Amino acid sequence: MNDVAPQDSSDEGGTVLSTTDSGPIPAAATDEVVRICQELLRIDSTNTGDNDTSVGERAAAEYVAAQLAEVGIDSFLTESAPGRASLLARIPGADASRPPLLVHGHLDVVPADPSEWRVHPFSGEVRDGYVWGRGAVDMKDFDAMVLALVRQWRRTGWVPPRDIVLAFFADEEAGSTYGAHHVIEHHASWFEGVTEAIGEVGGYSVSVSDDLRLYLIQTAEKGLNWMRLTARGAPGHGSMVHHDNAVAALCRAVARISAHEFPVELTPTVRRFLDEVSDAYGVPLDPEKPEQVIATLGPMARAIGATVRNTANPTMLSAGYKTNVVPGEAHATVDGRALPGHEDRFLAEIQRLAGAGVEIAYEQHQPALETDFNGPLVDAMAESLRHYDAGARPVPYMMFGGTDGKALSRLGIRHFGFAPLKLPADLDFTGLFHGVDERVPVDALRFGVQVLERFFAHC
Ligand SMILES: [Zn+2]
Repeated sequence: MNDVAPQDSSDEGGTVLSTTDSGPIPAAATDEVVRICQELLRIDSTNTGDNDTSVGERAAAEYVAAQLAEVGIDSFLTESAPGRASLLARIPGADASRPPLLVHGHLDVVPADPSEWRVHPFSGEVRDGYVWGRGAVDMKDFDAMVLALVRQWRRTGWVPPRDIVLAFFADEEAGSTYGAHHVIEHHASWFEGVTEAIGEVGGYSVSVSDDLRLYLIQTAEKGLNWMRLTARGAPGHGSMVHHDNAVAALCRAVARISAHEFPVELTPTVRRFLDEVSDAYGVPLDPEKPEQVIATLGPMARAIGATVRNTANPTMLSAGYKTNVVPGEAHATVDGRALPGHEDRFLAEIQRLAGAGVEIAYEQHQPALETDFNGPLVDAMAESLRHYDAGARPVPYMMFGGTDGKALSRLGIRHFGFAPLKLPADLDFTGLFHGVDERVPVDALRFGVQVLERFFAHC
């Protein structure tokens, strides 16, 4: 039995991975982080969104368990379906009366086509000062930093000020059903007392000048509002006069939705972020028209531009089976993303655009999140960044996509994106997420370990 696992009769289907004796493990965390990142990248843990074709999450979780076991940390592996493994561990802190801090990462990655890459996406190769591979920034880099650090703690006997709960989830890349959602539904006792968490996507730098870098700490994320539109009409022969055509009705709905410009609405996080960007670049902010300030962010502008308004992009169409038959139904999917506090109005607006005859159902609906950028945990993030980068200016920002923070919010946990990386000024970092030639600078990995080490000492 796992002596660190919380006792909970609702826990089910897990495997306790026991500690083994370890030999000498000499490397410091800043050295080990590269090896661990490489080894994680070599485990192909592609999440296709389909349990039959997704691979490697269990191998990745077992690898993490072995890295923990080597330094005497027990862990608990749970599968939501065959192969869909997540791993939990708890590191006792000095003051057990304080709420634990959750540190979470995911072990799955999105697919990668080797023919498009300069290096093999599952090689973990170090080249030109970068570690290359699918997951290098999303998010085996952070997984490796956390593992390297906790291994160092055990080797040196260092104890964090409060308990740390480690979670390595499956299935983040397909909505977390088989990962974080499963784990909090079946093993909630692991998170008892947890009010705050750190994980992806944030803590990385955007260079303004040689001596000023914004570090984007995620305090908000847009909602996931994936919709399926269904238009119905009278089926019949394609050669006749036909006014009630489902395909035509669906196309009109999709065209209206895609042409619609949602109004700019700045939530507190986005307003503060744009004020900071405006100040850093010396470009005045017009809150009604923030595009000029957003444009200063270069390649990031497309992503940040999605955080000032709701968005709805049509993504799939299906209807019909023969050229001379008018089908009775036509379908489309829309990738909708609503701002925090906007979700009901957003759905109503999409329904108005689609028209009364078009049915809309949620395929995926996960909430938008927003938390304050203040408190001791935020102070510890800011201080640790400034300690290792005198030009650091930590700023809150809203994530355009989603993270496991959505699942954790069901337990009332505040999620912060804080996976610190000091990046080269000319690197298009956001373009690397799910992108070709995903890679992370070796120096940035080491910087992240140092910042996190200091952060944990003051958390
Ligand atoms: Zn991710």
